[in-house]
Amino acid sequence: MKSMNDTDNFYTEISSVNELINSIYSTKILLDFYSGTYTTIESSAELSFLYKTGTYHTLAQDYANHCVCDEHRQYFLDFFDEENLIAALTKTSSFLELEFRRIIHGRSGWMRFVVIPSGFESPIHYATLACNEITRQKEEELISQQALRDAFAAAKRANEAKTEFLSNMSHDIRTPMNAILGMALLAGTHIHDQSYVLNCLNKINTAGKHLLSLINDILDMSKIESGQSVLSQEEFCLGDAFDEIFSIITPEIKKKSLSFSFLSNGIENDIVIGDRLRLKQILINLLSNSCKYTKEKGAISFHVSKSSMNSLTSYEFLIKDNGIGMSEEFLSKIFQPFTRDNNHEAIEGSGLGLAIAHNLILLMNGTISVDSQVGKGSTFIITLPLISVSCTKPFQKESCTFTTSEIGHTRSFHFLLVDDNDMNLEVGKELLQMNNGTVETAHDGKEAITLFSSHPAGYFDAIFMDIKMPGMNGYDATMQIRKLTALKGDSIPIIAMTANAFSEDISIAKSHGMTDHLSKPIDLMALQRIINHL
Ligand code: ADP
Repeated sequence: MKSMNDTDNFYTEISSVNELINSIYSTKILLDFYSGTYTTIESSAELSFLYKTGTYHTLAQDYANHCVCDEHRQYFLDFFDEENLIAALTKTSSFLELEFRRIIHGRSGWMRFVVIPSGFESPIHYATLACNEITRQKEEELISQQALRDAFAAAKRANEAKTEFLSNMSHDIRTPMNAILGMALLAGTHIHDQSYVLNCLNKINTAGKHLLSLINDILDMSKIESGQSVLSQEEFCLGDAFDEIFSIITPEIKKKSLSFSFLSNGIENDIVIGDRLRLKQILINLLSNSCKYTKEKGAISFHVSKSSMNSLTSYEFLIKDNGIGMSEEFLSKIFQPFTRDNNHEAIEGSGLGLAIAHNLILLMNGTISVDSQVGKGSTFIITLPLISVSCTKPFQKESCTFTTSEIGHTRSFHFLLVDDNDMNLEVGKELLQMNNGTVETAHDGKEAITLFSSHPAGYFDAIFMDIKMPGMNGYDATMQIRKLTALKGDSIPIIAMTANAFSEDISIAKSHGMTDHLSKPIDLMALQRIINHL
């Protein structure tokens, strides 16, 4: 039983709700469940087909037939079933709401019906039915719901891709890791069999190099994907970049007796502004793929051409081979990370190189296309816009070609090696001693400065400096040493020897006054090249 107070409150509420209804709803109909009739109080033009009064049953049925779209009709009729509605209103003692899709004269839209009881009787006797078109609000609501669903699906896809990436990464890292640890174990059990141990060490070396290139690729990939990759803009001669590329792929070409044709119509003399390291990374990846996926005595060609638009020149790099080729099905997903065609299980790779190259090319506003046929070969065409500065420098191919004759020095050196990690100090010291060096070591920047200052000017020929060290880091130590002009600290070569191996780390090292950059793990050839230039 409701108290008088409740009843008063209810009627006050009802009258304020009615006022609100009058201001919001265009159609109002009084429902009399007692007599099973309705009376229209106010109606919008589109409901003109309804009689002003009639039976409740015809109201619900006529409206459902004329206005409610097929898929919502039954739902509408169930809601307005007289018995159901009375029971629901009596139970809730509040208003009920229904939203549905309606069609009137071929026009589709959304309606909201509200049924408000006009009393406390049980069961309810009277109610007001108010309705309004809500097409615009509903469409906005549906759009935002769709946007939410899309965002959810995108987040889900990204999460799945991340899980797949991690599982691929874990697999691809564990494979060479297993070879390294397994071979180390086998070497230990055959320690007196020199040729067996040597064989194991060679395999450890190969697996270690593979692991390193995989780590570099993974880091590159995640940097590109997180938008952290920054392109550098430096002036360089295209021919110099080509030379450096050739020095890397020539050993592979020779090893497989491949024929190699290079055609560039003098473009190698162009001086351009762009990201030299990234350009090299892309071309090396494609050319070494051509070597990798072409059988012995096959043919590879590398053709460069250009077309100019204002100061920007579009360079086209065509890399063609007559190797194993790729299936059409694989070509549709060739630039996705960790995808490999399945016709070459024995050839080592991770399926990351092309994904990285593709992303870098997009970052540089370029394009890449590929044409390939199984058993016939593949052609990749890359276009990259580069700022062309001039075309004056003559290209001397031989001048940059890497040769093994660079290795081996007759001079002796005094080196200062700075690293906080004892194992790295041991490896670095050994490598420097192999290059005629007498090595003094320090564990951080401060110790390095003290050691450098305790020797006369010119005593050290070079400093090999780690970057990340506790206390004083390599950058700060370099800047301090550069100020020690009386000790020739301003001119001594200081080489960053660091695990900070991204291309931007090279420019950061140089901006702190370092002369050169060697990334860890140390490549013996690269170290020898640096020592040769001292
Ligand atoms: P990886 O060579 O490490 O597997 P890439 O991303 O560089 O990774 O290449 C992805 C895949 O594309 C390779 O595994 C290979 O199946 C295919 N592919 C790339 N270049 C060539 C080519 N020149 N000839 C045949 N297949 C190629």
